[in-house]
Amino acid sequence: MDARGGLKLEGLVKHFGDVEAVAGVDLELPPGKLISFLGPSGCGKTTMLRMIAGLEKPTEGRVYLDGADITDRPPHLRDIGMVFQTLALFPHLSVAGNIAYGIRIRGVGDRESRVRVDELLGLVSLEGMGDRRISQLSGGQRQRVATARALALAPKLFLLDEPLSALDANLREQLQVELRLLQQQLGITTIMVTHDQREAMTMSDLVVVMDAGRVEQVGPPLEVYRRPATAFVARFIGSTNLLRGRALPDGRVGVEGGALRVEGGTAAHEGDEVLISVRPEDTHLSRGETDESNGILGTVVFVRDLGELFECYVDCGLDENVVVAGSPRDRVPVEQGDRVTVRFPPQACVVVRG
Ligand code: ATP
Repeated sequence: MDARGGLKLEGLVKHFGDVEAVAGVDLELPPGKLISFLGPSGCGKTTMLRMIAGLEKPTEGRVYLDGADITDRPPHLRDIGMVFQTLALFPHLSVAGNIAYGIRIRGVGDRESRVRVDELLGLVSLEGMGDRRISQLSGGQRQRVATARALALAPKLFLLDEPLSALDANLREQLQVELRLLQQQLGITTIMVTHDQREAMTMSDLVVVMDAGRVEQVGPPLEVYRRPATAFVARFIGSTNLLRGRALPDGRVGVEGGALRVEGGTAAHEGDEVLISVRPEDTHLSRGETDESNGILGTVVFVRDLGELFECYVDCGLDENVVVAGSPRDRVPVEQGDRVTVRFPPQACVVVRG
């Protein structure tokens, strides 16, 4: 059987009065994968999800599921299961009652429904808890009930809107792994909205990074991290050093205090402004002035050792201090006020759009 749940968004726009929540999104998302919509508060992620679910009507554009245009189809006829941030469980029903809710509406008989509920309880590790009240469950268990309820009708598409945001950090990390394993086991196409980059990196096959109603970049998590397309993506996912300079005749980029070579070149014309992103962990430090290529001289302004990570902030005369990070075991012994050379390896220099 072909994988189900391939989604295509075409020219999707949503206005709320003067607010352009989604400003023209074209996306093709493959079936069977977990895809995250990642971006800061207000960037339009939830509005996108709600248009896919049919809870919001697009101002313009179309939504296709497995090739069928579902833009005008009501939510309950879209073959979509959804878990909201609030979970929206029915407090007066038991765990089993909640999970069986959608199944019963479809007119499935008692026995068949009970078998399916038991199967789903097993799937989310709540065996034997079908008779419990919702109020007798922990936050993580409630999250599992909401998941089981959304999956009860074996939908083509599973939508999650910040599903773990109400949970404390440890439980959240545990459930991220659980949800990811469940999604892989079922092979169900899943779209998750999150503003937490660690969550997106942990769980996704593909990350869709959004800002101000637009898609900035789509790619596997590591690709988006290592090859950010824009300064926004580089800053939003992890932290980075952004170096602004101008293209030199020899192909390098002239920045304050030096010239940097970018592996693969910059494709910029001489004199063009170029923005380079280099991750702190790819940036290296040496004591004093050295003649290493791709190095800039600076002064240490702040050092911190977090046990698992060592960070050094260096004033190189650029717009912002350069951050150098690494394992404390490899720490170069420097202190505040020391003169150092910061090296940006050409292969770690990524040209980004501003
Ligand atoms: P968050 O992470 O805070 O939930 P988000 O990225 O999901 O943010 P949306 O909820 O999609 O963002 O909102 C996008 C923009 O649209 C915001 O400016 C928001 O204020 C606005 N908006 C969303 N829903 C409505 C509505 N029903 N009426 C008016 N404006 C809305």
